Amino acid sequence: MNRRVLVVRFSSLGDVILTAPVFKILKKSRPGVHTTFLTKMEYAELHRANPHLDEVRAFDPRTESFKSVVDWVRNGDFDLFVDLHRSLRSRLISIFSGVPTFRYSQDRFRRFTVIARPRFGARKGMRPVVERYLEVVGWEGKVGSDPDSIPRLYLKDEDLQRGRQWRERLQGELDGRLVVLLPGAKHPPKQWPNAYFSELAQMLAWRGDIPVLMPPPGREKIAAEVVNQAGVEGVRLSEPHEDAMGLASALAAADAVVANDSGPMHVAAAVGVPVVGIFGPTSPELGFAPLGRNASWVHLGLFCSPCSKHGKHPCWRGKRYCLDQMKPELVIEALDDLLERVQAQKDLYL
Ligand code: SF4
Repeated sequence: MNRRVLVVRFSSLGDVILTAPVFKILKKSRPGVHTTFLTKMEYAELHRANPHLDEVRAFDPRTESFKSVVDWVRNGDFDLFVDLHRSLRSRLISIFSGVPTFRYSQDRFRRFTVIARPRFGARKGMRPVVERYLEVVGWEGKVGSDPDSIPRLYLKDEDLQRGRQWRERLQGELDGRLVVLLPGAKHPPKQWPNAYFSELAQMLAWRGDIPVLMPPPGREKIAAEVVNQAGVEGVRLSEPHEDAMGLASALAAADAVVANDSGPMHVAAAVGVPVVGIFGPTSPELGFAPLGRNASWVHLGLFCSPCSKHGKHPCWRGKRYCLDQMKPELVIEALDDLLERVQAQKDLYL
């Protein structure tokens, strides 16, 4: 039985969020186990309040040498190294530290067939990445069949307070549901058009909701443009959140979120706020659908989608039909269906 288990995932935001159930399953399946998480500095706060995690070790490649991390792992008396990143760095750390290692399956061949489907006719999607993370620690099943398999982000009281203050500032005197719109994504080809975000903001404001545009750090211009294009009273512009916990606190204080397929979409799902994810050149079939009872997504399912793993590559058809044909009406309909479903669940448990 492993007494000390080190789980490694350095980045990115969404992937780090999706590691959350691994700690819970480890604690349940190996009583007495000590769990440690090694991740990059900017994500270290995310799982600090996770009650199934004993220790978080932050790594900053700008200030810390590779050797010092290897030494730390080697001296950490770990019985098992769970490599959920499978990068060159994580492999070398496990090899040089000499700790027995299990790695998650990237299932590259399946991914290739899903992305190359228009040319090869393959139809089967990939298993959720969380399922592949969990199988490394011996869990068997379908993600969602067991609530323990759903990623959850735990917030401290001060985080919740920070979120409430953010909400009060934006809401002001207005009364209505606060719906956060996240127009950013790491790779521009998977961003839903800004004009559609503006239309969606208009539609929400007209019916009495409070749409809040929240840009990623450094991209404030995008959200300001969306607000200007919307041109109606009641559309709010939030400051971006530089730190991951600031983002999580704000999203937890909202009533709903609409996001491109991105890390913040997974943050929203993990704090339990109703979230609709927008998928174009990427697809839930690649295993990155937002998880949980309060999560939903929109994807047109065109024959050419998905055409890339992370939405990095320009459209090979010359026009992004997968996003251009996804009109705001479709997204607001998905949002309303989700909110209705969430309300029905609440009524059931009252
Ligand atoms: S329309 Fe273009 S970007 Fe969208 S999935 Fe098809 S090939 Fe990819």
